[in-house]
Amino acid sequence: MDLSIVIPTYNEEESLRELFLWIKKVTHENNLTYEVIFVDDGSTDSSWQVISELKKEYPEIKGIKFSRNYGKSAALYAGFAKVQGDVVITMDADLQDSPDEIPELYRLIKEEKYDLVSGWKQKRYDPVGKTLPSKFFNLTARTVSGIKLHDFNCGLKSYNKKVVKNIEVYGEMHRYIPILAKQAGFKKIGEKVVKHQARKYGVSKYGWERMIKGYLDLITVMFITRFGKSPMYFFGALGTFMFLLGGGFVIYLISEKLYLQHHGLSVRQVTDQPLFYLALTAIIIGAQLFLSGFLGELINRRSPDRNSYQIDEEL
Ligand code: UDP
Ligand code: MG
Repeated sequence: MDLSIVIPTYNEEESLRELFLWIKKVTHENNLTYEVIFVDDGSTDSSWQVISELKKEYPEIKGIKFSRNYGKSAALYAGFAKVQGDVVITMDADLQDSPDEIPELYRLIKEEKYDLVSGWKQKRYDPVGKTLPSKFFNLTARTVSGIKLHDFNCGLKSYNKKVVKNIEVYGEMHRYIPILAKQAGFKKIGEKVVKHQARKYGVSKYGWERMIKGYLDLITVMFITRFGKSPMYFFGALGTFMFLLGGGFVIYLISEKLYLQHHGLSVRQVTDQPLFYLALTAIIIGAQLFLSGFLGELINRRSPDRNSYQIDEEL
């Protein structure tokens, strides 16, 4: 099979049939064998009925229904586990992403050998309240990850099957799939400008809280990438630094006191000096950080994938 299309779906009853028929038309015109996997993320409208009816007419459809709403990342992950096509494309169910982009996204993976190609909604049809924060967010993600993408969170992406089988998308991590892919060793990441449309039916499933969650997730992703396998490098280094800083203050306080006493000058109580409290705090926090790193290492040792690696090829 050439192509698997994974579509996370949450209350999108009005769009599904139109979307599927459009995909069908495009793939037929380009002679691609394909499957469409709808993952119903606990919809409360009739999305699942629509998918079931479509399935009766078109056997190339597959459906997964969650018992409740688990989020887009979980939906993608469940879809990825099922895909069989050589190339995997994800797209939103709301018709904001155009199926006309499929052939070129497919070609970039198949012929140009990209591992991942992300859509770039250069001209977006969303409210400003969404596009502006998104720009800022992308700039941050670009800077910290070193991946040159304009639109990390675009729902329309294509992948080599190998990539989706080797990454785990959870929580709200769908925004960082390119970063997860890079970490897993898939470095050829590209982007393609894609057409974007205003939402035709239904409402957006994300509000302002996505901003806060998005940033916290970004920190998690970066932290886990750099220090996930060796927390001691982070906590140990920071802890040692704090400890030494506190130690330095103490030495200074003592030598100052000795010096003043030696010269018969007036001496302040050590507990009267702000520096003493800073030193105390720094030493305590330093020791705590160090311990956290050590505990992290102990936990890591017990983790089943402490030695996980992916073999690319073998002869
Ligand atoms: N979605 C989902 N689970 C959720 C929220 C959204 O599967 O909990 C799907 C939704 O049906 C759509 C896609 O993810 O296909 C993108 O959602 P939406 O269009 O609301 O996001 P926006 O385009 O506003 O960023
Ligand atoms: Mg949308």
